[in-house]
Amino acid sequence: MSGLEKSIQFVKGIGPQRARLLEKLGIKKIEDLLYHIPRQYRDRSLIRKINQVEPGQEITVAGTVKARDKIRTRSGRTIYKIAFADETGIAYALWFDQPFVFKNFVPDQEVLISGKINEKTWEQFKRPEFIHPNFETDGEGGLHSGRIVPLYPLTEGVNQNQFRRWINTVLEDYLGALREFLPEELLRERNWPSLQAAIGELHFPSDMELREKAHERLVFEELFLFQIKLMRKQEQKGQEEGYCHQAAPDLTRKFLQSLSFRLTGSQEKVWKEINEDMESSPPMSRLLQGDVGAGKTVIALLSLLKTVENGWQGAFMAPTEILAEQHYIKMEPVFKDLGLETLLLTGSISAREKKENYRKIACGEADIVVGTHALIQEQVSFNQLGMVVIDEQHRFGVQQREALLDQGQTPDLLVMTATPIPRSLALTLYGDLEVSVIDEMPAGRKKIITRVRKSDARPNVYKFIREQVKKGQQAFIVCPLIQESEKLQLVAAEDMFGYLNEEIFPDLNLMLIHGQVAPAERARAMDRFKKGEIDIMVSTTVIEVGVDIPGATIMLIEDAHRFGLSQLHQLRGRVGRSDQQSYCILMSDSDDEQAQARLKALTQFSDGFLLAEEDLRLRGAGDFFGTRQHGATPFRFADLIQHQDLLRLAREKAARYARLYSESDRRFPGEIVR
Ligand code: ADP
Ligand code: MG
Repeated sequence: MSGLEKSIQFVKGIGPQRARLLEKLGIKKIEDLLYHIPRQYRDRSLIRKINQVEPGQEITVAGTVKARDKIRTRSGRTIYKIAFADETGIAYALWFDQPFVFKNFVPDQEVLISGKINEKTWEQFKRPEFIHPNFETDGEGGLHSGRIVPLYPLTEGVNQNQFRRWINTVLEDYLGALREFLPEELLRERNWPSLQAAIGELHFPSDMELREKAHERLVFEELFLFQIKLMRKQEQKGQEEGYCHQAAPDLTRKFLQSLSFRLTGSQEKVWKEINEDMESSPPMSRLLQGDVGAGKTVIALLSLLKTVENGWQGAFMAPTEILAEQHYIKMEPVFKDLGLETLLLTGSISAREKKENYRKIACGEADIVVGTHALIQEQVSFNQLGMVVIDEQHRFGVQQREALLDQGQTPDLLVMTATPIPRSLALTLYGDLEVSVIDEMPAGRKKIITRVRKSDARPNVYKFIREQVKKGQQAFIVCPLIQESEKLQLVAAEDMFGYLNEEIFPDLNLMLIHGQVAPAERARAMDRFKKGEIDIMVSTTVIEVGVDIPGATIMLIEDAHRFGLSQLHQLRGRVGRSDQQSYCILMSDSDDEQAQARLKALTQFSDGFLLAEEDLRLRGAGDFFGTRQHGATPFRFADLIQHQDLLRLAREKAARYARLYSESDRRFPGEIVR
C-alpha cells in the first residue's frame, strides 16, 4: 500500500477529532487531502527589505523581533504591537484586542510578516506599520508568507494556517507515492508537468503560469479517465447478454389503434430504432430526446407493451408524484382493456396498498408498474423486469438510473428527456447511451405566443385570460418560486389563489394544486381540469414537468425571472399541446440584466435546444444541471463549458491510449460517480 489510502487522522497535527471535521469537506484519505485544491491564492511572494517598503502592494518582510508592547487606547481597546528589524531598518506590526498573538513573538525571534503597509502612519510619520498582518515564526520555511500562498475551502473549526501545515506535511510524506499514469509522450507534447509536480504546484505555486499548466493537466486527466471509463463500459455492454425480445406485435397494434392520432414520421423512426434494440441480445441503453410536447410518452408505452407481450414486466419511473399519477391514470384504463394490470407506486400511497403492490410485483401479477423513485426501494423486487423507462431523466441522478437497472437481471433501458443537452455534454455524460431524437412536433401545433409583462399590466392580463376562458379555453397560473422553500411557495400559491378566486375571477371555476394536496384529491383535480370542469388551475411548480392537459392554452408565470430558462421552457410546455393557439405570459418586474436576457430568449425561441444552449451560455454548466441533478457532473477540476477544448482532446487521446489502461489501474482519486 502506498499510504494514499490511509486515514488522515494519522497525519501529524490532525488526529481523530479534526479528521471528523475534515470529513465534512469530503476529506477522509491522504489522497483526498492531496486533491483538495485551493479556491484561490494570495500572492505574498514579493519580499522587501524594510528600507524599500511602501504602501500599495502586498509584501513580505523578514526580520527579527526587537520589542513588544501593549498600549491601551482611549476608546478602551488594547493594541498589541511588535517592532522588528532587518539590516536596513525597523518596522512595526500591530493587532487590536488580540492578546494571544503575543505568545508568538519573543525578542530575537525570526519572523516573516506579510501584508500591506498602513497608508496613514506612512504618510504622517514615514513609519512602516502593518495592521493585522499575516505572520510566520519559528522557521516554518515560509509556508504562509514570502510566496504565493494557497487559500482553501474550509469548514468551521479549521483555519488556513493549520490546513496549510497539514497539506505541507502530506506533500512531504506522500507526494512521492502518487504514480504518473499519463503517457510520457503526451506530457511532453502538451508541456504538462508530471502528476507529482502538478499537485505540488497546485498547492504551492512557484508562479501562476506554472499553476495554470498544472491545473490544465489535472482537468485533462479527469476528462481523459472519464472517457476511458465510458469506453470500457460500452465495450462491456456489447458483450453483455440481455433479453432478446420477440416481435410480438399484437398489444402494440391494438394500442396504436386505440389512439386518436397517428404517429409522426419522427415517432415511427424512433420506435423502429427501439424495436431493433429490444430484439437484439445486448441490453438496450437508449436516450430518447424530444422537445416538450413532442410525444415521447407514446413511445414509452409501446416499449412497455412489447415487453409485456413477451411475458415480462415493465417499469416506468417519473420524477414527481403528480407526473407518475398522471401517467398511471392515463395508462391504467387503456391497458386494462388490453387485459393488463398496471400499478402505481409512489411515496404517498398507503402502506397496505404498497405491501399488496410489492407482492404483485414480486410474483409477476403486475404487468406494468408506474412510480416515482419509490420504485427503486429495496422492498421492490420484480419477478422478471424486461424493460425500464425513465421519464424526464435529467431530473434523476446517474445513480438512480443504475439502481433501477439493478432490479432486473439486465432489462432494456429507455431514458427520456426534453432537455436537449448540447452535444458536447451529451457525449460526455451519456456517452454510454445510444441516442434517438424525435425532431418533429405532431401536426398542427402552433408556436406559443410568449410575452413579458410588468405587474402594472395585470388588469390587462387578467382581462385577456377572462376573454379566453369565455371562449372555452383553460389556463395555468404558476406561482412564484420563493428561494428553494416549498413551504413559502405554498403560502404564495394560497395567497394568490385566494386573491384570484375572490377578487378577480369570482365567477369562474378556479382550483389550487400543490405538493401538499392529498394524492387522491390531486388526481381528482387534475381529472376535472382535463375534463374542462375547471377554468383556471393555480399551482406551484409541481406541474412543471410532464403534465399533459391538451385543453389548456394559457400559461401565466408569476415572478418569471426567478426561474431558469430550461425550467421556464418546461413550464411553458404545459400549454401548446394541441392544435389550438396557446399563450404564455411571463410576469416580471425584475430589471436584472441576466434575468431580462433569459425572458427575452424565451419570447424569441420556441426550440428547446436553442434555449438550452442559451441557458448554458448565460448560466454556466453548474447551474444548468442544478443541485437537483445530484451526480450529474462528477468533475472536480473540469468545467464542461470552459474546458470544451480539453474535452475534445481527452476524447481523442482516450481513443488513442485506452489500451494502455487495464481494469486494475488506479482510478481517479475521489472516485468518479458512475
Ligand atoms: P412529451 O414528449 O412532452 O412527453 P407527450 O408524450 O406528453 O409529450 O405528448 C404531448 C401530447 O401530444 C399528448 O397529449 C399526446 O397525446 C399528444 N401526441 C403525441 N403524439 C402525437 C401525434 N403523433 N399526433 C398528435 N398528438 C400527439
Ligand atoms: Mg413527457
